[in-house]
Amino acid sequence: MSDNIETSSSGCTAASKRALVIGGSLAGLFAGTLLLRAGWNVDIFERSPDDLDSRGGGIVLQPEVVEVFRQAGVDFSMHALGVSSQYRVVFHPDGSIQSRRLAPQTQTSWSLIYSTMRRAFGTQSYHQGRPLADIRRNPGGRVTAVFDDGSEETGDLLVGADGSNSTVRQLLWTDAEPRYAGYLAWRGLVPEDAMPEITRETLHGDFAFANNRESHILGYLVPGERNNTTPGQRFYNWVWYRTVDDVQLRDVMTDVDGRYRGYSIPEGKLAPAWREHIWRDADALLPPAFRAIVRATAQPFAQAIRDLSVDRMVKGRVILVGDAASIPRPHTAASTSKAATNALALQTALLRLPDDVDKALASWEPQQTALGRYLREHGCQVGNHLLFGSASPKQVG
Ligand SMILES: Cc1cc2nc3c(=O)[nH]c(=O)nc-3n(C[C@H](O)[C@H](O)[C@H](O)COP(=O)(O)OP(=O)(O)OC[C@H]3O[C@@H](n4cnc5c(N)ncnc54)[C@H](O)[C@@H]3O)c2cc1C
Repeated sequence: MSDNIETSSSGCTAASKRALVIGGSLAGLFAGTLLLRAGWNVDIFERSPDDLDSRGGGIVLQPEVVEVFRQAGVDFSMHALGVSSQYRVVFHPDGSIQSRRLAPQTQTSWSLIYSTMRRAFGTQSYHQGRPLADIRRNPGGRVTAVFDDGSEETGDLLVGADGSNSTVRQLLWTDAEPRYAGYLAWRGLVPEDAMPEITRETLHGDFAFANNRESHILGYLVPGERNNTTPGQRFYNWVWYRTVDDVQLRDVMTDVDGRYRGYSIPEGKLAPAWREHIWRDADALLPPAFRAIVRATAQPFAQAIRDLSVDRMVKGRVILVGDAASIPRPHTAASTSKAATNALALQTALLRLPDDVDKALASWEPQQTALGRYLREHGCQVGNHLLFGSASPKQVG
């Protein structure tokens, strides 16, 4: 516990308060770790029985995530946090350069942030294989989480950090449903040493884009296996937005084993017919360097683009953070930084008003809902312009 957070202005410690965090991915780890630092007792309950896994899909490193690392006491050096790119380069479909401008930034990966935060939070109060099934709000403000196996935990605050299909949201925010945006992201990771020559020569080291009709692709280098940022050991990460109607979406999201997965298909599970579809589309729509990297991707994966932002993030002592509260489109590069912002602001509010949790939550909520709304609107504008050439999606077939 750090000096400035040990006692409240009235001399009461916050240590007796207990937070139940539902979901142990990035938003849950950000909020859980910062609440711990604010003197709360925190337990994180994650649905998955195993460590979460991603080979390291790319995330633009935003200052809010670095700030969470700082607040969480993570010992880090900036160069180990990701891979730098210098220029933003946009290509025409024929491979000629449309524009090139200096815009240095750092790209990191989901797995680097996840593994860093898992270490920061520790293992003792991180409970795997505990899917939330129900919530009971008790008189006096305490809240009880009921899990799939019938077990129960009671705390002073329940943080719904359970992602875009949040159970917490479905239980208490019954009218808030994500809406499909009319397009998906095909995604891929290729080991740096397996990059085709043309891609290495043309795209390596920059943040590259290419547009075509109902098609927008981008790519950059990210840390490799075990978060390795050594040149030669990294991954090239690409994300390709393509329009897909509702019927096709259902087919894409039905995996190689015939199982319907809803809104994302992980690596290794995309049905082979769709991998061939991607390759054919790449030949028709992408400049040569992007075409080559898409074709060199052994196991592309997919994610449907959806919109959501809730009007309220607080219901009594239950709150929503991260993707559970709002899903900005990836063009904003803000999902993870928004989860970080939610957690940083929550910590500040609870430190400022340690004796009045309700008042602290009331002071936390307005800016966070405004941020979610702003990112949704901004993401819709950018995405609809890129994919549909307009501010709103047209019917796609
Ligand atoms: C395995 C994994 C890999 C990812 N890889 C990338 C990536 O490469 N690039 C990228 O931009 N984004 C990635 N994301 C998404 C990214 O983490 C989020 O968009 C963003 O960071 C906000 O995170 P979140 O914690 O709010 O949501 P999420 O990351 O979706 O996490 C929600 C968590 O809640 C858990 N959960 C769901 N329901 C319940 C329940 N009923 N009870 C208990 N737990 C529950 C889920 O298992 C999950 O761990 C990934 C997410 C996951 C889970």
